[in-house]
Amino acid sequence: MTTRILSGKVISEAIKAEIAEQVEALNANSGVKPCLAAVRVGSDPASEIYVGNKVKAAAELGITSEHHHLSEETSQDELLSLIADLNKRDEVDGILVQLPLPPQIDERLILESIDPAKDVDGFHPENVGKLSLGYQSLAPCTPAGVIEILKRSDIAVSGKHAVVVGRSNIVGKPLSMLLLRENATVTVCHSRTANLPEITRQADILVAAIGRAGYIRGEHIKEGSTVIDVGINKAETATFAHELFASEDLEKRLKAIETRGFTLVGDVNPKEAIEKAANFTPVPGGVGLLTVAMLMKNTVEAAMARRTLVKK
Ligand code: NDP
Repeated sequence: MTTRILSGKVISEAIKAEIAEQVEALNANSGVKPCLAAVRVGSDPASEIYVGNKVKAAAELGITSEHHHLSEETSQDELLSLIADLNKRDEVDGILVQLPLPPQIDERLILESIDPAKDVDGFHPENVGKLSLGYQSLAPCTPAGVIEILKRSDIAVSGKHAVVVGRSNIVGKPLSMLLLRENATVTVCHSRTANLPEITRQADILVAAIGRAGYIRGEHIKEGSTVIDVGINKAETATFAHELFASEDLEKRLKAIETRGFTLVGDVNPKEAIEKAANFTPVPGGVGLLTVAMLMKNTVEAAMARRTLVKK
């Protein structure tokens, strides 16, 4: 079986080019410049990279951005007051609060305090409700990115059996809603699912969003299916790398482990997936790149909807 590797880079670049055009047209025709406010609390190194990437992508596309970096000791009231201010400011179209937050802050309360019209992460209960009702809404970025990969790779979804492994509020649940909206027959699996391989082997489209490196193996995959790997994990030993990778890729991965102590891997064992799947997303270079692109798309959509350029 020759497996088509679905490049997140190619797809995200195409989406970003469309967004840049849209931003330019918005500015030229209506004088509107979309604005994204990113809020980060504390000094989690991964969060610093994520927010940095988002701010950089915004700049590349002509979207104005603000980066509010608060100290680890910030109180819940201080953060709520910043969000209230961002909610009030008319020129701010999107608000993104990078998770995780320090323990003194209630994440749920913070996410619920964001104006749903500016909720570009799509985590506010109002947007989650709209998504499950099938209404137009700001959808969470990673699941929306998975749908874009499928559509732009001409992979049929309607009438197909999609199996999503993982039921988190950020990935698994919203993705199952989006797949349903695309008329897939959807099965959602989780840690209590009995006989997982038996179920995943029925999938025309299998999505892994589990958070366990290389967990989905050949025995889970139907011949000729599409496998989308959302997971981002680390492999830190040469033995594990040998289980996951082959030939040139293996050499590169072993080198990464030697030099920086780890290599990034998804929730799927890529060596076994490419023996069975017709389409497969790599890690890195797959779904992850779409997440940032979809955040930009949501920011522009929020700007258009808020400024009543399109119907909500
Ligand atoms: P969570 O930890 O919130 O959820 C994991 C889900 O996987 C849970 O529903 C859990 O089930 C299920 N699960 C865990 N173990 C098993 C198992 N053995 N068999 C079946 N299901 C299992 O993770 P997230 O959804 O936030 O993230 C999932 C992965 O995606 C992570 O690797 C994360 O890093 C990555 N990610 C990538 C993004 C990107 O941009 N590419 C963005 C967000 C996440 P249960 O509910 O029963 O506990």
